Formats: sequence, C-alpha cells, structure tokens
Amino acid sequence: MVTNSEIESAFELLGKLMELHGENSFKAKSYLSASYNISKLNGELSEMTSEEMDTIPSIGVAIKQKIQSLLSTGHIKLLDELLEKTPSGVVEMMSIKGIGPKKVSTIWKELEIETIDELKYACLENRLSLLKGFGEKTQKTVLENIQFYQKHKNKFRYAEVEQESLLMFQLLKKYFTDEEISFTGEFRRYYEVLDKIDLLTSAPLEEVMEMLNESQFDQLQEIENTIHAKTTEGTLFQISFSEKNNFYKNLFITTGNEVHVEDVKKRISDFDSKHFSSEEEIYQSAGLSFILPELREGINEIELATENKLPQLIEMKEIKGVVHAHSKWSDGNNTIEEMARYSMKLGYEYLCISDHSKSATYASGLSAEQVLQQHSEINKLNQRLSPFKIFKGIESDILGDGSLDYNEDILSRFDFVIASIHQNFKMSEEKATERLIRAIENPYTTILGHPTGRLLLSRIGYPINHKAVIEVAAKNNVVIEINAHPWRLDLDWRWIQFAISLGVEISINPDAHNLSGIHDIYYGTLAARKGMLTQKMTFNSRNVNELEEYFTIRKSKIGSMAAKQ
Ligand SMILES: [Zn+2]
Ligand SMILES: [Zn+2]
Repeated sequence: MVTNSEIESAFELLGKLMELHGENSFKAKSYLSASYNISKLNGELSEMTSEEMDTIPSIGVAIKQKIQSLLSTGHIKLLDELLEKTPSGVVEMMSIKGIGPKKVSTIWKELEIETIDELKYACLENRLSLLKGFGEKTQKTVLENIQFYQKHKNKFRYAEVEQESLLMFQLLKKYFTDEEISFTGEFRRYYEVLDKIDLLTSAPLEEVMEMLNESQFDQLQEIENTIHAKTTEGTLFQISFSEKNNFYKNLFITTGNEVHVEDVKKRISDFDSKHFSSEEEIYQSAGLSFILPELREGINEIELATENKLPQLIEMKEIKGVVHAHSKWSDGNNTIEEMARYSMKLGYEYLCISDHSKSATYASGLSAEQVLQQHSEINKLNQRLSPFKIFKGIESDILGDGSLDYNEDILSRFDFVIASIHQNFKMSEEKATERLIRAIENPYTTILGHPTGRLLLSRIGYPINHKAVIEVAAKNNVVIEINAHPWRLDLDWRWIQFAISLGVEISINPDAHNLSGIHDIYYGTLAARKGMLTQKMTFNSRNVNELEEYFTIRKSKIGSMAAKQ
C-alpha cells in the first residue's frame, strides 16, 4: 500500500525537480502545495473515493491522476523522467537544509558538482562563497548542514578519524597500564579510506567493556572476542583480544593484508606453534628484513625484503618547503605574508605560492595584470623575510585542449607552473590522458597537479592512463605531485614506485587554502611512504638554495625545449 507520507514525498520531490530543471514554476509550486495539503490529511488517500479526493484543496484533475497512478502502479511518469536526467547525488543535495532547488541547480551547472561530498569540498575551498547569490554566510551554513547530514555515513578518510582513534588509544593505555595495546589492520597501515579502526589488546575484554560503558556510544557490543564500539560520530572501533604471549604474533597477523601475511607465514616452519617476542623476530625468522606496517600490502615488499632492498622511506622532517598553496589573491583565506610566516614558524625554508589562473573564474583566478601585481608583492616580501623565500608560481588550469592558461610572456615570469585540470571532468580515458600529456609537454609545466582530480569517497575523478602520463612526465622532466589534502592523495600511492623507477620526482604538496592546510603535508607523507617514496626522489626535500638552483636551471632550458617542439 502506498501511504500518504510516500505520496507527500513524491510530490515534494516532483516540485523540487521541476524547479531544479527550471520547468514551469507554476506547476512546480502546485506540486509543492499538493504535497503540503496531503501532509495535513486525516484519512489515507488509498482509501478515498475519487469524489472524496476532489474535495482536497489544491488537488485538481492533473494531480489527482498522478495520485491515482502512484496508488495503482507505484510510479508517476513525470517524476521518473525527471529522476532519469538528474544525477542521484544532485537529488540527494536537495535534502540539505539551506539550499533550495534553484541553488542546487546553480551548484550543479556552474561548478559541475554532482555529489554532496564534492559540495563539501567546494565549501572548504571557498568556492561556494564566490558563486553569485551565495556568499560566505551561506557557505558556512551549507557546510554545517552537510556535516550534520553525513554524520551517520560509515566510511571515513583516514584524517577524519585519526584524532578520535588516538584518543581511544590513549584511553585504553591509561586504564590498562600493564597490558599490550596497539592499533592494527588498515588503520595501522595508514590506509587512505577506512570503514573501521582496529585495535588489539591483551586487556580482558570484559574490563574493556566496563570501561567503555562509562562513555557514550551509539552501539557497544561484543561479538566473537571482538568489541564493536560505534561512537556518536559514527566511527566504528573493533577491539580484539590477544593473550600476552601471542600478542606480537597476532599483531602481525592482523596488521598486514592477507597476501602479505600468508607469504611471510609460509617462510616460517611451525609458525602456528611458535611464540615471538616482537614483530622484528617474526620477519627475522622468515629470512626477511623488517617490513614497516604501512608497506604490508602484498605488493612487492616481501621480494625486496628478501634481498634487504627495502628503501629508506621519506619522513616529515625531510620536507623542506611548502609547494602548492593559495592565497587571498585567488581562493585562499590568508594573505601571502600570513602563509609565508606560518610556513616559517613550522620550520619550512620556502613557500611556493600557486594561486589559480585566469580561466578559473570560480576560484577568482588571476588576470595577467594581477599576476604582475602579485609578483611585486612577493618581491617586497622576499626582501623582508629573507633567508626564507617565496617562489612565484601559478596553478594553471589545463584547458580543454591541454594548453595552459596564459601567453608565454606571462608564463615565463613564474619560477614554476603547476598544471591542473579543474573543469570539464567528463572525458574518456583517451581524451583525459591526451589533455594531461599535452600539458606535461608544455615546456613551462614544472609540476603536474592532482593527476586524476579524484576526491576520496566522493568523486572518482576522470579516468587516465597512469602509465602513459608518468612516462611522458619522465621524458619531459616534469614532477608529479601527491596532492596531500586527505581527500585527494592524488597521485595515488600505488603509482609512486613506477614513477620513481622512471626517475620522476614526486612533490608532497598540501594545496593549502589556509594556514592549517599546510599541515596536510603530513597526510601526503603517509601516503608517499606507502608508495615507498624516498627522500632522494621527493622534490620538496630540496633546501631553499637547491630549489632556487633547480628553478633557475630548468627555466634556462625552456627556450631550447620550446624550440624542439
Ligand atoms: Zn587544483
Ligand atoms: Zn590548488
């Protein structure tokens, strides 16, 4: 049976979709008021006669027919047609408070946003506030409403659950001072997307339960020797028990993925009956050098460990400067000086500023004239902040045909150019790859920005042939970034080994739009380590003098590179 509330929702959706698609606004309003009047009815429509329906205010012949169709078939043809031409994420967006169908339409059409997560990201990047009719206040409200809406979704980006996880860990540590406690599973491997956080402990689970009972959880139960605890924020912890004398063995078993664990196990005779006092001992017994948790993905780490050839992984302290940052000149929240001083405070030696280019109108991209003004501001700042240095760059949009955004006169004034795709995402793999390759072959391109445009858990990005793109980058001496924003982590870490094997350097770039964004370098570093990035192959492990020299030499070669083309 179709209930009144289902009919009410159907008409509400119908009215909203009509508005969204800019169809007859009179009709749209009539569907919305029908929906409202149905919500006020006492009797069920499914039990009414046709005559009884006629007495309901604002329900004329056309609407009555639709109600009858819904009651008999479960469908309204017009509604089905409208749903057909609307991405499901856009429909979902209309359920966020603070933005009606007209605004959703603007967001969809002008920013090409098709999911709620993309919208959230646009708010974080200040792009919504720049849209006509929106403004900063609307943006803030929308962001809050999205967060509310998403509270109960159950997949998380690593960065979003890290803090909460550390608190849980500390809580357990505090209560069970004499017990073993460790993160394990994908969280311990710094996996970029998680559905739960695994912990292993030698503390008796009844006592852990008792302790957790004192806090507020949405769900708390023990299933097969594992406590499932879901926080009010929706984060799921799974805490498993291990006897103390088998703790490191169980930690090893639960940390790596299956391929990794099985491969190591089969190298140890009598693994099942043995005890180990550390994970190091396990790898030693297997005839392997120690494999860090984040590498236990069953790729080629074991092969390398047999020959003692695992590389020394890049560390945060080896990153010497901030590459890829925005300022108030385009869509950032802070001035260049604020960004620079904060970078200094964090111990970095330089800031490579890269505001958006002129085609990025949605992000207040810089006109050629503004570029020149910005450069004179940077010159002055560099005099004051020396030996700290601000390098002049741009995040140039890669246009539809793969060309960059300014003429040579302007391009030649930058120390470096990051080339990124921000618009027209709907492309075949062939087209997207071609577009990127053309941009990489432009002699002014120094760094390829976020190669796929993905946003983890919310936008797949355009499909590209990674291998081809990386090969062309190698040939053209172009650096590829790992965009360190925890939603992007693009280049994906799974491609790093291939890139560096061809000599392509990787830059760990925060793409910071405000001061705190600079800290994202940390998440980029975690991802880079999973891809076995070394200090030597990390572009921004150069110190300020080395980088200055790099830019000077590279720029001096542009003339001859351009001539070759
Ligand atoms: Zn970008
Ligand atoms: Zn950027």
